[in-house]
Amino acid sequence: MFEKGFQNKEVNVNGHSVGLGVSKLIKVPVDRLPTGTIIEIPVYVFNGKEAGPTILLQGGLHGDEINSIELVRRMLIDKRYKIHKGCVIVVPLLNVFGFLNLSRDMHGKDVNRCFPGSKTGSLASRIAKFLMRELIINVDFAIDFHTGGAQRNNFPQIRFTAQDTVAYELAKVFNAPIMFASKLIPKSFRNECFKNGIPVLVYEGGESLRIDEHAIEEGIHGTLRILKSFQMIDTTIQIPEQKECVFIKKRRWIRAKEAGLLTSKVANGSYVKKGEVIGNIMDTYGETNIKVKSPIHGYILAKNNFPIINMGDAIFHVGEL
Ligand SMILES: [Zn+2]
Repeated sequence: MFEKGFQNKEVNVNGHSVGLGVSKLIKVPVDRLPTGTIIEIPVYVFNGKEAGPTILLQGGLHGDEINSIELVRRMLIDKRYKIHKGCVIVVPLLNVFGFLNLSRDMHGKDVNRCFPGSKTGSLASRIAKFLMRELIINVDFAIDFHTGGAQRNNFPQIRFTAQDTVAYELAKVFNAPIMFASKLIPKSFRNECFKNGIPVLVYEGGESLRIDEHAIEEGIHGTLRILKSFQMIDTTIQIPEQKECVFIKKRRWIRAKEAGLLTSKVANGSYVKKGEVIGNIMDTYGETNIKVKSPIHGYILAKNNFPIINMGDAIFHVGEL
């Protein structure tokens, strides 16, 4: 998968060095609230004794995507980062401000549209710069954890950059229920990493401001499969088998033809046939009932859980093989 060999190395984050066989929590001060409270981003470094890849595991780039934070946090609590080979850099919550404000953004800006960032720009832009300069500089690849936004629930899925063959191989090892290639978005974290030759997997599971146990479990299992495949963790650790990873080739969002109350007829992740009724949109007086039909044979990749729908809203994401 990786042509280069991996070397044992000391990892440096924000002026702190972490030697071989050492684990360290580094709190990086990034800002001060108007009240004077200092805001820090916690960065855990677990450096193994033997040579192996260095990986960034990142939660909470979007502050309201709680599953991504909980997933990384739960692996910390369960002591899943007993690293023998290589190194794991763990950021449970990058966007502290978004988390506090129940928002995806950082002071009104999406960090994931601020790369490569700037030392003197907005706070979101400074955080993007910090991420590239202090963390990405150390790593061989990264896993960036997310959820659907605006009450759209993503069935557990791994996304990778189509042109990136290493990311594709890593996605297969991760073995989420669903995987697909997705386009690079300008100024995004994945785009900037791609430009710097760093493969990134984006894991999406569940929806913002909700805990979704299935999404958390699948994310943990996939991450452990990656760590185990490089013998970074104990190779005797048992990880539940993923029976089938569905590789989606084409996707489309179904949008509401009318406004109304949306009810769903299908489970997230399920297979639906072309023409199958997957939901209904009704007005509040029972006058109209519009059937939402799947335009293709395919899998439900995401569902909009918000029942009050306006014309044109994205309501189901479907993908075909
Ligand atoms: Zn996100």
